[in-house]
Amino acid sequence: MSKGHVIVIGGGLGGLLAAIKLKEAGYGFTLLERNKGVGGTWHENKYPGCSCDVPVALYEYSFAPSLVWNKSFPIADEVEAYANELVARYDLSSGIRLEEGAEEAAWDEAAKLWHVRTSKGETLEAKAVIGALGQLNKPQWPAIEGLDTFEGPVMHTARWDRSVPFDNKRVGVIGTGASAVQLVPPMAATAEHLTVFQRSPNYIIPRPDQAITPEDKALFMSDLESAGKIGALMRELTFAAADLQTWKAFEWTPEGRAALTRRAKDHMEATITDPEIRKALTPDFPVGCRRILICDDYYEAIVRPNVSLETTHIARVLPDGVELKDGRTVPLDFIALATGFNTTDWRWSVDVKGLGGQYLHEAWASVPKAYLGITVTDFPNFFMMYGPNTNLGHNSITSMMEAQIGYVLKALSALEEKSAASLMPKREALEAFNRKLQSDLKKTVWGDETCGASWYKTDEGYITQNWSGTVQAYQAAVSTLKPEDYEWN
Ligand SMILES: Cc1cc2nc3c(=O)[nH]c(=O)nc-3n(C[C@H](O)[C@H](O)[C@H](O)COP(=O)(O)OP(=O)(O)OC[C@H]3O[C@@H](n4cnc5c(N)ncnc54)[C@H](O)[C@@H]3O)c2cc1C
Repeated sequence: MSKGHVIVIGGGLGGLLAAIKLKEAGYGFTLLERNKGVGGTWHENKYPGCSCDVPVALYEYSFAPSLVWNKSFPIADEVEAYANELVARYDLSSGIRLEEGAEEAAWDEAAKLWHVRTSKGETLEAKAVIGALGQLNKPQWPAIEGLDTFEGPVMHTARWDRSVPFDNKRVGVIGTGASAVQLVPPMAATAEHLTVFQRSPNYIIPRPDQAITPEDKALFMSDLESAGKIGALMRELTFAAADLQTWKAFEWTPEGRAALTRRAKDHMEATITDPEIRKALTPDFPVGCRRILICDDYYEAIVRPNVSLETTHIARVLPDGVELKDGRTVPLDFIALATGFNTTDWRWSVDVKGLGGQYLHEAWASVPKAYLGITVTDFPNFFMMYGPNTNLGHNSITSMMEAQIGYVLKALSALEEKSAASLMPKREALEAFNRKLQSDLKKTVWGDETCGASWYKTDEGYITQNWSGTVQAYQAAVSTLKPEDYEWN
């Protein structure tokens, strides 16, 4: 018999994980996904070169290894295929409603139930709601004068239309972050000319990618027991290297910073010989402040004869190109916006209404705060995957989400054990957690005064996105549910 019904909002890897684990634990679920397909990030990002920066060994779920991968750093389409494989493997499709977004989720205190209104006008009921809405799916459209007057295609990386050709065209790429360094090499290969408009450069380290061939897969299949053991060891090793070593750069140890800075410097100097271009590509902030990029072919693309790196800022976009601040113009046929996402306002596409009719975006009007990044005072039986302050710069988001769903299931079991209908974190527990988190974050690279703006923090410098420590520390923090930190009703 079902232990009760839970509504999951969002069908990315987080929402699918929640559905799998709810089903295994005996709960009924309905998963609402506004897109045509599951996969979230990996369904939405169709730009050339889009891929995952974390090796498969660590990015696939620990309980669901797959043979879908053809590279150790998978391309986006493979991760999307993995999402679809999860749906089939765990028989989730009857609980998934595609092209049906959640518009409002309202807590009914009298009935101790959530009512979720969907984009199809239906209202669903559930004892709990899991918001799995992701941190990176509101494209940031840059405020550049004249952008809407451009006569050719203007495409954001997260809204890419593969049917629009860029071969033999004069392409401008605005931005130099994680999507730009993936996009530039494949576009440069067929564009007539490509200009990268750089506001500031980033640290880039090599990506030790490797093919996973059909022969490799046949070898795994020939001895599943050994393949399983090797997969688990690879995962453990990759996790340990990320969590125990790479983390040191973000923890701000001199050795951690020096090692990562050196790796990035060597990587650049191996390809870029011109001292002026080296200077233009060297960041003026410490390593780790912004996402460290993992890419082998960006610098090779920058030195191609048909590529220019433009460091003079853009003054305005013209119908047929771009005018720079120094008055020069760059003629263009196609503009690619690799300008990232709006992250820090935490205004979701669904209105979540808690106790006393208060909306979550009102509760979070100054800054978002969630206990362990999962629960919020005044929002009973509401849980989040990849919530505030659970992003990372050094390890896999999927590791964090596996820890989060474990905690959610503990909370749901605790309700049954206590014969309670609802739980929410006490305000003092949430505030104490957040004070400690923000104080720990101040000691990391992101809290250092030399570390300027990034998508991790607000304009005022408050860090809204990142967790303050290792994934191991997060796993330990969510390994038990402290009943005294919650109000039970
Ligand atoms: C280009 C790119 C590269 C990345 N690379 C890495 C990487 O290398 N390593 C890493 O760890 N992480 C990476 N990330 C982060 C990535 O987002 C996470 O790893 C993970 O995929 C997040 O899954 P999610 O389910 O939490 O969110 P998402 O994948 O964003 O899914 C959220 C889902 O919610 C849906 N949704 C939103 N609003 C509603 C609504 N109102 N009703 C119904 N559905 C709704 C969306 O349509 C979406 O499908 C990357 C992100 C991007 C954009």
